[in-house]
Amino acid sequence: TLSERLGGVFDRLRGRGALSEADVRTAMREVRIALLEADVALPVVRTFIDKVTEAAVGAQVLRSVTPGQQVVKIVHDALVEMLGADASELDIAVNPPAVIMMVGLQGSGKTTTTAKLARRLTERDRKKVLMASLDVNRPAAQQQLATLGEQVEVATLPIVDGQQPVDIARRALSAAKLQGFDVLLLDTAGRLHVDQALMDEMRAVADVSAPQEVLLVVDALTGQDAVNVAQSFTAQVPLTGVVLTRMDGDARGGAALSMRAVTERPIKFIGTGEKMDGLEAFHPQRVAGRILGMGDVVSLVERAAETIQVEEAEKLAAKMAKGQFDMDDLRAQLLQMRRMGGLGALAGMIPGMKKAQAAMASGAVDEKILVRMDAIITSMTPRERARPDLLNAKRKIRVAKGSGTTVQDVNRLLKMHQEMANAMKKIKKMGGLKGLAAMFG
Ligand code: GDP
Ligand code: MG
Repeated sequence: TLSERLGGVFDRLRGRGALSEADVRTAMREVRIALLEADVALPVVRTFIDKVTEAAVGAQVLRSVTPGQQVVKIVHDALVEMLGADASELDIAVNPPAVIMMVGLQGSGKTTTTAKLARRLTERDRKKVLMASLDVNRPAAQQQLATLGEQVEVATLPIVDGQQPVDIARRALSAAKLQGFDVLLLDTAGRLHVDQALMDEMRAVADVSAPQEVLLVVDALTGQDAVNVAQSFTAQVPLTGVVLTRMDGDARGGAALSMRAVTERPIKFIGTGEKMDGLEAFHPQRVAGRILGMGDVVSLVERAAETIQVEEAEKLAAKMAKGQFDMDDLRAQLLQMRRMGGLGALAGMIPGMKKAQAAMASGAVDEKILVRMDAIITSMTPRERARPDLLNAKRKIRVAKGSGTTVQDVNRLLKMHQEMANAMKKIKKMGGLKGLAAMFG
């Protein structure tokens, strides 16, 4: 399995040292094979490997973890990001009735999921829900939904024999309006394979019902097939999200990774059983943990990172207290900021800097600014870095020239350093970092 495979890779990496490029490349070859074996689509694997390699090469290995463990964490974080770090809710805050249309191949779990979702919306969100089956292809398909409706105590549209899907959709919509339902769930027909007739039918139903959500239901166990199905539907139907069913079996999670990348739509739910309570909101963290099967390692590395951050911050705080936070320290912070896409240990603990951190993470702060700041600092002499107050107007011009920036840029950086220094003095007055933590929680 994927987790065994990765386990083997990381065992071989065990032993201390920095994360060398060669180590990372070896590990990535194995990760690549492992992902392919887990049915992750090839283009998705490529993107993923590129992303992880970039993050891993040159990454600092934390004290108290092995390079292998460090790689696990990096792979994990990349998985979470690709799975969609933000949890995605249903978007049904509209003038009722909100229409949710379920689409997918025959046997993917549409009808079951429709009933599960109806139950969830009724019990958890206190919505008044109506379900309607538009599956006129399979005998008894409409009856299947009616039976499930009785089971979960959710209303279903009365069956009228001989009516076509579009007409049923119209009837369902007006019934939902007339009877004051909050949500209308449309369970559509599937086919054994994707064909044009199915796509046309889906589009026609969408046209008359103007769904707020169109959820593609796919069977996680079908792997690469599921990816092809998702591709066809994405191209032809206005999907808003994906439901992955049969995640209770030994689905390897690989489908989740491909699905998100191929459809560019969030996975909103996973099916975890045949019973009506087998539906869960999609948690990227959990699925990433499942793909890796190494949750323990991930939390170990996270703890180690936190410890180091606190230690580093305390060291810097001590230096500051003696008035020794110099330009080299600032530079170290800036480097850390670039590497981690956020502010470093110290800055993360200074009030007000949290905002800058968020701006960095959201991409509002340009990485180029950090590169420029770094160039300015390296253009100073070691003496100036230790005592920036020594920089006079003439030297500022030289530093600006040497770094390809302007005197204004140099001044801005000096001001930032001064502000950080002042902040650290305040921290000292408040009783050090512990006092700060108490104040800002
Ligand atoms: P449809 O043709 O897309 O409407 O598929 P159905 O809803 O009729 O489901 C087909 C089969 O898959 C049924 O036997 C369901 O009980 C089963 N099924 C659906 N979702 C899940 C799931 O999340 N886990 C498991 N184990 N079985 C599921
Ligand atoms: Mg069905």
